[in-house]
Amino acid sequence: MLQDKVALVTGSTSGIGLAIARALAAHGACIMLNGFGERGEIDRIRDEMETTHNVRVMHHPANLLHPNEIYEMVEWASAQLGPVEILVNNAGIQYTAPIDEFPRDKWDAILATNLSAAFHATHDALPFMKRNGWGRIINIASVHGLVASVNKAAYVAAKHGLVGLTKVTALETAGSGITCNAICPGWVRTQLVEKQIEARALSSAMGLEDAARQLLLEKQPSQQFVTVEHVAQLAVFLCSDAASQMTGAALTMDGGWTAQ
Ligand code: NAD
Repeated sequence: MLQDKVALVTGSTSGIGLAIARALAAHGACIMLNGFGERGEIDRIRDEMETTHNVRVMHHPANLLHPNEIYEMVEWASAQLGPVEILVNNAGIQYTAPIDEFPRDKWDAILATNLSAAFHATHDALPFMKRNGWGRIINIASVHGLVASVNKAAYVAAKHGLVGLTKVTALETAGSGITCNAICPGWVRTQLVEKQIEARALSSAMGLEDAARQLLLEKQPSQQFVTVEHVAQLAVFLCSDAASQMTGAALTMDGGWTAQ
């Protein structure tokens, strides 16, 4: 379905981004991976994806805190693999604290990674999509792009901003063959959430699995984690022809979290 397409997935060395990269490769897209990690492990992931799916896979180490590195990554991907036509703005970080104790540098880093990086990558990739008359931009937002939780000021602000950026991008590209949508997952058990489970287990003197159950109990009515594969399959659908008239949407996949 996606043969001859080039997909750039930010933050794809683990978690949701890696699952999306794998799923797009399984449908024939060439992949530019991005994100932190050990060189050997990233090479292993790259080799495995190339062998399994018979597509080209490369990795660019851009630190998304720096707009010039994002620009270099988009240009390099387009030069090495072909024009970037699928952009998945996925990279994200988290930090939790009450507002009056929230470190200013953490606020800046979360806004830069979770929001500004998506703007810069979209800014740099859109010209390639416009030239080809086809494009898919998928912003991995969160339920926190739609509702709030305590102690997550920067994350909630950034994700609400990302949903807003999604709508503007959709309006500016409407009718051009380019779509832009946001996916808003609830709890997915990745490194990002594992840290929150560990913190909860530590502060309440309980085991990891009890802390994970408590996390779900508070917010996610299904009492089950969303999986990275669930999110990845929605991203694949958004790249399909069937989704060509879906744009500007914020799609929840949250076990009922935002229905409450
Ligand atoms: P993760 O920690 O497994 O993955 C984050 C990825 O981003 C990693 O590849 C990491 O190397 C990369 N990254 C972080 N900072 C970077 C930077 N400055 N430059 C380049 N790469 C950077 O986390 P995840 O849960 O897979 O999160 C992926 C996205 O999904 C995030 O935007 C997150 O906010 C969102 N999300 C996650 C959940 C969840 O429950 N896990 C729920 C809703 C939304």
